[in-house]
Amino acid sequence: MASQTNAFEMAQRQFDRVADLLKLDQSVRELLRWPMREYAFRIPVRMDDGSMRVFQGFRVQHNDARGPNKGGIRFHPAETIDTVRALATWMTWKCAVADIPLGGGKGGVVVDPATLSVGEKERLCRGWVQVMWKNIGNRQDVPAPDVGTTPQMMGWMMDEYSKLVGEYTPGVITGKPVGGGGSLGRKEATGFGVVYTVREALKHLNIDPKTVTVALQGFGNVSQFAAIGMIEHLGSTVVAVSCWDRDDNTSYTFYKKDGIDPHFLMSITDQYGTIDKNAARDAGYSIEDGGAWITKDVDVLIPAALEGQITAETVQLIHPSVKLIAEGANGPTTPEADEVIKNRGIFDVPDFLCNSGGVTVSYFEGVQNDMNFYWTKDEVLEKLDTKMTQAFNSVLDMSLRENVYTRDAAYMVAIDRVVKAMQLRGWI
Ligand code: GLU
Repeated sequence: MASQTNAFEMAQRQFDRVADLLKLDQSVRELLRWPMREYAFRIPVRMDDGSMRVFQGFRVQHNDARGPNKGGIRFHPAETIDTVRALATWMTWKCAVADIPLGGGKGGVVVDPATLSVGEKERLCRGWVQVMWKNIGNRQDVPAPDVGTTPQMMGWMMDEYSKLVGEYTPGVITGKPVGGGGSLGRKEATGFGVVYTVREALKHLNIDPKTVTVALQGFGNVSQFAAIGMIEHLGSTVVAVSCWDRDDNTSYTFYKKDGIDPHFLMSITDQYGTIDKNAARDAGYSIEDGGAWITKDVDVLIPAALEGQITAETVQLIHPSVKLIAEGANGPTTPEADEVIKNRGIFDVPDFLCNSGGVTVSYFEGVQNDMNFYWTKDEVLEKLDTKMTQAFNSVLDMSLRENVYTRDAAYMVAIDRVVKAMQLRGWI
């Protein structure tokens, strides 16, 4: 599933395109094309067998004009400084388009977390914070989970930071477990946020969500709750999900014509997102090649795995029935594929709009930590829906007004807000 696309090059190409449209000054471009600060470091960890292993860690702070840097920490064997740069850059645009007062950051460790014991994972998380604690903080840079990291890991990191600074500081990190400073609704937030944008897009396209069929890529946190939301909130039918199979080191698509049951599939999925093929087969699912999800005769495609998945080649496999692509993943579509999607008239909900529900509830989590007062799940999800709907409409309005592709429109909204904040602070 790892792609050949350099995600940071892709993020810069997307930005350059819109910078030209907006005729941005050279100095503004220089500031926004590159992260403001980058950290690359080594984390020594004592393994269970007594040996030491050294891990490569990263944190990139792209831009904090609108508020503290914000963004997840990814644990992935294929992590590189360029992936982290791209993801940090997209976080700046994501927080701006969602209109939350935060900047963009991202972190990572080159590791397959499935190969570590619980104790080793805890020591790695604490080690990451021991290196970075002076450069993170609730008024500086606030990490969160991403691919390969969990609420429990955020809890360990928050604890380590609190010990180092000498006071309980829940707001240093978000995506913590509920009961340990976490917010209700954070677990569902990214997937449900995807669904709110799909609902708004279908309204614009004049399509009844109850008639809609969906295929998803991935079966991690985003995809699971996007599938549940599509079925339970909108009454749509999800016919396919794909997942990475850790045992076979490849991916598969799980297909059921009359609709998959995400709760059942979750009950047979391990903590790293691998679905048990035998149990699925017994329950009537057909198991196909990992790339099959994109070929399905459906109305909506939701890539919710990694970056660089809809490429010049795979975009050709999209069925003529597809009317909408909702990008649950960060950077799933390459600029070459964008051209094809645009020409075919498929409506695209771009990544940093579509998946901004996660960071939006992270922001709510930080607000609740500051108040030391916690909202109900319904309150959180209602506030999330309001934010996502506003964000979607600001992008749609821009796209219609300027007659530009939705991704360009999202960039225009986001860049405008970040540039204004930089002007107000006297940076440009
Ligand atoms: N990792 C998530 C993202 O890419 C969430 C970031 C956060 O909550 O800060 O949006």
